[in-house]
Amino acid sequence: MDPRIITVAPTGAWPTKKENPNVPITPQEIADDVFACHRAGAAICHLHMRDDYGIPTMSAARFEETVRLIKRSGIDIIINLSTSGGLDATDENRQSHIRTIRPEMASYNAGTMNWMHRFVFLNTPDFMEALGRTMLECAIKPEVEIFDAGMVYNAEHYLKQGVLKAPVHYQLVLGAAGGMKATVDNLLFLKNLLPEEATWSAFGIGRAHLPIMLATLALGGHLRVGMEDNVYFAAGELAESNAQFVTRAAALIEGAGMKVATPAEAREILGLERICNFA
Ligand code: ZN
Repeated sequence: MDPRIITVAPTGAWPTKKENPNVPITPQEIADDVFACHRAGAAICHLHMRDDYGIPTMSAARFEETVRLIKRSGIDIIINLSTSGGLDATDENRQSHIRTIRPEMASYNAGTMNWMHRFVFLNTPDFMEALGRTMLECAIKPEVEIFDAGMVYNAEHYLKQGVLKAPVHYQLVLGAAGGMKATVDNLLFLKNLLPEEATWSAFGIGRAHLPIMLATLALGGHLRVGMEDNVYFAAGELAESNAQFVTRAAALIEGAGMKVATPAEAREILGLERICNFA
């Protein structure tokens, strides 16, 4: 039935309540949001944390509190934690939370870039190697985030070194300034660089969100939606909730004659080795 996985990225590092008051920021808001997104069809939640002021943080305590709240809500959803860092990021706190929580998945940024013309999003060779080894050790599946074609080749290098394990799961991120623009041509180009056995998902930031989503479905990929990537649901219309995005993605999948993957199906597709039992 061609199952497609929906990942929801409810918060991210940057969107603020000022940009959209519906962005979930506190652990409770994030957990409530993930609950609603799960009901709407999300199989994976990709989580970033904020401090009391809404500033991105790698606080392990925040990650732990949020995952605990999600687990207590009783839903079965794959936990995918960000390792990309906050303003307090160090090579150590970008991976210590995944050692204690042991999520099923975590993001793995496949290179350094100039982020949104604002600062350097640093992923040194040492860090990429250390993070890959932490994930291997803890049986956490990396979600290899690709912002630019060179990053596909970085990932290939770490695959050869045994720091990443095949089949790799890629997340193609299009439209982050400093990376590749969100066009269907770029999506196709990146997709064709991936190893045959890889699984992949993609999304466009901002107004290219829908064309990239439709092209991703046509090309056999999985979807990611949420306010990390878009605070607008449509031109000039702020998103009411993350579940609104998930609901639309699920309707498009079904409308295309495909099936929204359950968390169990997503685990099988991605070859996840275990369930996150953090409590
Ligand atoms: Zn993220």
